Amino acid sequence: MYELKVITSFSAAHQLKEFEGACENLHGHNWKIEVYVTSKNISEAGIVMDFRVLKKHVNAVMADLDHKFLNDLEAFKDQNPSSENIARCVAERLSVSIDDPEIKVSRVTAWESENSCATYYP
Ligand SMILES: [Zn+2]
Repeated sequence: MYELKVITSFSAAHQLKEFEGACENLHGHNWKIEVYVTSKNISEAGIVMDFRVLKKHVNAVMADLDHKFLNDLEAFKDQNPSSENIARCVAERLSVSIDDPEIKVSRVTAWESENSCATYYP
């Protein structure tokens, strides 16, 4: 199995409802997002996919999150924009966007601070 990983980031605001803690107040994070894709096979050129192509898919998803109030987005209408749900949302959107049966989005990690992250495995 081959695995590629790209790291990106976005800045946004959120507010977690039904949660008692610092995140119930409106505030922002600079999220660092790690995306992993896997494939059993590589092309004749020896690659899973071009990193530039992968980054283009990832950046398109980030563009919809960057500098937004996440609670207002359709994706978080019925669920809190927690790092857990952000990781899942990014993974699901990327899977649709990449749309290649050979290439699976295997993991997305959302870092909301230097020491805290949530990972989603589709
Ligand atoms: Zn927060």
